Amino acid sequence: MMRCEESISLMPAYLEGELSPEKLPDFEDHLSSCPSCKGKLSDLIRNRNLLLENRDKIWIAPRALKENVLKSVHREKERLKKRAERIRSGLIGLIIGAGAALLAILLRGRRK
Ligand SMILES: [Zn+2]
Repeated sequence: MMRCEESISLMPAYLEGELSPEKLPDFEDHLSSCPSCKGKLSDLIRNRNLLLENRDKIWIAPRALKENVLKSVHREKERLKKRAERIRSGLIGLIIGAGAALLAILLRGRRK
């Protein structure tokens, strides 16, 4: 029995009619018994048809624009990472501060 991973990896070849005759029966067997893969395949077919129908409307971005977009995505990712680090160290500071305050309260309680 073919596993989902393999079945998914064969889907593009299947759609192109390029799946080898040895694999085809196993693949179709798997599809008929696996609703998840069947759904994935019909999604793939739908997306491919959409793409084919709209081929003339698809605009290929110039290289410079692509690079600019990728660069700003990267910059934004770095910014978010730094912010997450700041929040994390802020939290640690807060926890240490709370611990110190608690300790101070406990120590004061003991002195009485
Ligand atoms: Zn499957």
